[in-house]
Amino acid sequence: MERSTAHRVALACAAPYRVAMSSLGLQTIYRVIQQSDDLSCERVFLPDEPLGWDQGDVPTSCESGRALGEFEVIAFSVSWELELIELVRMLQRAGIPPLRRDRADHHPLLIAGGPLTFSNPRPLLPFVDAVVLGEADTLAVDVLTRLFDDAPRASILERIAGMQNVIVPAVDPASRATPCHCDASLLPAWGPIRTPHTELRDMFLVEAVRGCSRSCHYCVMRRGPGAGMRVVPEDRLLATIPQDASRVGLVGASVTDHPRIEQIVRALAARGASVGLSSLRADRLRPGLVDALRQGGYRTLTTAMDGASERLRDSVERHTSEVHLREAARLCREHGIERLKLYVMVGLPTEQQQDIDECAALVRELSRVVPVSLGISPFCAKRNTPLDGAAFAGLKVIDERLDRLRKKLAGAAEVRATSARWAWVEHVLAQGDEPEGMAVVQAAQNGGGFSAFRKAFAALGHEPG
Ligand code: SF4
Repeated sequence: MERSTAHRVALACAAPYRVAMSSLGLQTIYRVIQQSDDLSCERVFLPDEPLGWDQGDVPTSCESGRALGEFEVIAFSVSWELELIELVRMLQRAGIPPLRRDRADHHPLLIAGGPLTFSNPRPLLPFVDAVVLGEADTLAVDVLTRLFDDAPRASILERIAGMQNVIVPAVDPASRATPCHCDASLLPAWGPIRTPHTELRDMFLVEAVRGCSRSCHYCVMRRGPGAGMRVVPEDRLLATIPQDASRVGLVGASVTDHPRIEQIVRALAARGASVGLSSLRADRLRPGLVDALRQGGYRTLTTAMDGASERLRDSVERHTSEVHLREAARLCREHGIERLKLYVMVGLPTEQQQDIDECAALVRELSRVVPVSLGISPFCAKRNTPLDGAAFAGLKVIDERLDRLRKKLAGAAEVRATSARWAWVEHVLAQGDEPEGMAVVQAAQNGGGFSAFRKAFAALGHEPG
């Protein structure tokens, strides 16, 4: 769609195309900008791996090849803390000083939004002119349109600083703005682009629920004031999905809590579509749902145990019990699902070696019923959760526990773990403020490796333990 009179916005994401375009949130913002009267959108991503940047490369848009630095307004979608590293590098490659204080009026205006803003946007503040907090489905267009007002930059920023869900650090760095929550009548969000070049190959992405009604202590999506779970009615959801969609991704923090999920999956399977769910709670698995998922093409069933032991799961209100996990394995076997994939966190507060041993024993037991993969990630405390402020367990402790799980599960389950070192960097940023954000620039200048971060964070008093 050629819209030459519209103001062009760069929608940037510090991730490669195949990752960024698998995000329903990013696709939704792209769609609402394109549907607006006064704006048009061009997407800018990192180069695909393993190619990476060549010397002298600048980030350019997918649509017109326009260089990032030539846009008047750049909207960054930021999913999580570690994207800040590539965000800084992208800006440097574009010839845009990453720190707001080093930019002038001829540089683009930078705003940011995305999942990171639900927990702790403060490390973003040194980089951006404004942050839009929370669910920006409608808010994004409102804020972006105002940025093109025919007025001096300072007065535009003054005006948007008064908005309830926006932080403008130059005007009000201590702002108490809160995340926006979208009205249920505007749901579902859906992705306008189906492409073979993403992790979710040709999948039509649509939201089944938004938010969550549960209260796991570590989770930023947990129910809270003004949030909670909003359910998309079955008929509205099915009507949104094109009949020719051969692959459908039902998205949400707690998709299996949708009261009609089994019927929805069955209806899609009856159309001949394969179906994927972005989240699956073990305590919601019933024979009918697992059968429907199998009809919808499921080969691997993925769910989270999160705490290593029953005691730990209870302590963080993750009410997934051994009974649920045993039943999940049994249902996989009964319905011809080939693999059960489990996620667990290590390093939760009060975790002991016996919790790790309980996890290993249970996974071994389940692996005698169905092949099991275990994905392990170190716990990082997030702001806006009851575990805000909890300490990182320490590199030594995390590495010991990962080793112990690997040894105890050797030959029984496939084990994959994310890096303890980068989890510590994530933890510092998740708990951090503007100085930790500034430290990212320093670390990027020194190569962006773990030792560069360790040095930059040490200057602020952070040690990985
Ligand atoms: S971890 Fe899952 S179930 Fe628990 S609050 Fe978060 S989204 Fe809900």
